[in-house]
Amino acid sequence: MAGQDIQGSLKKRGIRLTRQRRLLLDLIEKSGQHLDAEQLYEQAKQKDPKLNRVTVYRTLKMLKQGQLVDELDLMHYGGDQHYYETRMKQAHAHVVCLRCGKVEEFYGEPLQRLRRQIEMHFGFQILVARTEVGGYCSNCQGLRAREMEEAAAAAPLAVTPKERRN
Ligand SMILES: [Zn+2]
Ligand SMILES: [Zn+2]
Repeated sequence: MAGQDIQGSLKKRGIRLTRQRRLLLDLIEKSGQHLDAEQLYEQAKQKDPKLNRVTVYRTLKMLKQGQLVDELDLMHYGGDQHYYETRMKQAHAHVVCLRCGKVEEFYGEPLQRLRRQIEMHFGFQILVARTEVGGYCSNCQGLRAREMEEAAAAAPLAVTPKERRN
């Protein structure tokens, strides 16, 4: 969405895009990652040392209510914090590694198809959809296998399922 469109859609909702809001929205749009409020605060502070934490949290809430950003919990892999990303992105699923916290984004037709199927099945109009998948990334699967082998070696009598080897 171009700057003008954002201004317009906010105006309709009676929200002014102040310099601080613009700053945070830019950070979220450009990061390409899923940053939590604290990380966003740290980055925003570097650009504007006068910004305080309360303002950043309040601004995030406003951007969320203005439907400019999505708030995600990403399977709570990191605890209770929430993560922010722009609503301008195309629909995608979040694939979260519950061990290292790596987040991948899956884009693709199956997601649109699922959406259409749900709408047809329930006669439902979907406004917002969030797909999150939790598990282990390929790197962590390897690390976990090694950890379990080590644990088994340290306690040879313990019964452990046989690990699959590649
Ligand atoms: Zn991982
Ligand atoms: Zn995302």
